[in-house]
Amino acid sequence: MFKLPQLPYAKTALAPFLNEEQMSFHYDKHHKAYIDNLNKFVETDPSLKGKSLEEIILSSTGGIFNNAAQIWNHTFYWFNMAPASEKSEPTGPLMDAIKKDFGSLDELKAKFVDGGVKTFGSGWIWLCSDAAGKLSLVSTSNAAVPFTNNGPAPLLVADVWEHAYYVDYRNLRQKYLETFWTHINWNFVSENFATKKVRDLTKTMV
Ligand code: MN
Repeated sequence: MFKLPQLPYAKTALAPFLNEEQMSFHYDKHHKAYIDNLNKFVETDPSLKGKSLEEIILSSTGGIFNNAAQIWNHTFYWFNMAPASEKSEPTGPLMDAIKKDFGSLDELKAKFVDGGVKTFGSGWIWLCSDAAGKLSLVSTSNAAVPFTNNGPAPLLVADVWEHAYYVDYRNLRQKYLETFWTHINWNFVSENFATKKVRDLTKTMV
């Protein structure tokens, strides 16, 4: 059985970027519903018992995949944000890779925000790294993750489902994404770039 992972900060800690009402609906309602739904599948399908979340994502389709992947995506999303008071910056090998593949941090931001704005309907905008450290931006629809079919490892993600921002931003997805950019936990992103592997999030929810 999977448990809703603890947020790494208080639900009020990201305000005014994301206010408590936005956080409560997103975390306590949306994220928890994916956990409850996946646990119902695990209860009735013996082949899922004992599998990690990542193993379920890589071996399932349909409703099982959608709920498992949404649990993974949301957990990663919470962890890759931080309160404005804990501001961090990309440094070292990560910053070198950003300069090499995007020119500058400002260019990466512009392309990330643009990619999120242009993600049609519900989905996610990701910064990823392949095993050699080559960075790329990936837009996925609905629950999809970048790392199926031997795709690249996620470093950073923003949720661009309307439920992620509509309480605070209504239809202003670009403003939400630009404000997201000032609340990135770059230490988390750097850890992901150091391994260039899909992060093990199962251990945060068992
Ligand atoms: Mn969401």
